[in-house]
Amino acid sequence: MDILISEDLDAPAVENLSKRYSVVRSAALWKDTAALQAQINGARAIMVRNQTRVTADLLDSAPTLLAVGRVGVGLDNIDLQAATERGVIVIAPLNANAVSVAELTLGLMLALARKVPLADRSTRAGGWDRKLCTGIELDGKTLAICGLGRIGRQVGLRAKAFGMRLAVYDPFVKHDSPALAGLEATLCEKLDQALAHADFVTVHSPLTAETKHMFGSRAFAAMKKGTFFINTSRGGVMDEAALLSALQSQHLGGAALDVREVEPPTTRSAFESLDNVVLTPHIGSFTTEAQTRTFEAVCDDLDRVLRGEPAINFVNMPRPKRG
Ligand code: NAD
Repeated sequence: MDILISEDLDAPAVENLSKRYSVVRSAALWKDTAALQAQINGARAIMVRNQTRVTADLLDSAPTLLAVGRVGVGLDNIDLQAATERGVIVIAPLNANAVSVAELTLGLMLALARKVPLADRSTRAGGWDRKLCTGIELDGKTLAICGLGRIGRQVGLRAKAFGMRLAVYDPFVKHDSPALAGLEATLCEKLDQALAHADFVTVHSPLTAETKHMFGSRAFAAMKKGTFFINTSRGGVMDEAALLSALQSQHLGGAALDVREVEPPTTRSAFESLDNVVLTPHIGSFTTEAQTRTFEAVCDDLDRVLRGEPAINFVNMPRPKRG
């Protein structure tokens, strides 16, 4: 077998690849570690989204594996170091969905500011309560951006066009960094400084050991009363219990969550009952454009690697294995 696909991944680019290589698709394989380990033995490449955990153990079961194709960004489900040590190249088109995630983030901010879901629900129910739906403008408000990478910068550019003031927290961005160009943002050394004056807080940092639960009770307490919190990065960067309590006590003005600590959530939480919470099922990169760009980039690179050529969208540099 050339390529194992262990999640529900389907696109014209995958169909094209299937014409040239032997591809095994098993949409639910990611759920069964033992079956996945058995199936990957003999594969030359694996294609995953974010459900398959590409661990050192899994890679040890795949002695002929040359490449992991990650359909998306966010590498928290892939042990990059283990892949590098085993000579496996990891392909992830990091720029393919930044605009889509940024546009969703702005959409969620507007939905919170103008109470769009509440207005929709109440109108569908036969109501016409304009006062209930009184919102606020984004213009003149302060947006704190935590993580000014590809997505964070696109969010900043769009928020600036809405007349927002920007405060940035990113320990890897310096005052002369190109990431800040044209944003007129205040770069804060500490997270709390960025949160203190924010009307909206949006997270765009990766999930790492350091960022896990970065937004917990301390961070929510550092925000002023009425702040809106938006998370389109990873559920693990926030402590959901602490967020819920900050919403229930009305310290926060509202929240919009595209990502959750457990996906899909196994139980209904109290978030669903709150009018000032907007929930979406991890759709940041789910636009026609981003999906097409991502699948094409991953499939083209898998084709290159399987033909013995270098990949373009690689995120590690292993010593080459013989194919
Ligand atoms: P990126 O690597 O370009 O940017 C991440 C930024 O976070 C970097 O600038 C980095 O310096 C910063 N950072 C690292 N540690 C930090 C910390 N402790 N505190 C604050 N900032 C820190 O990544 P990106 O393409 O902008 O994506 C960001 C995240 O968005 C991804 O890791 C992924 O988890 C998530 N994402 C979600 C969706 C979705 O569908 N909702 C889609 C794509 C990406």
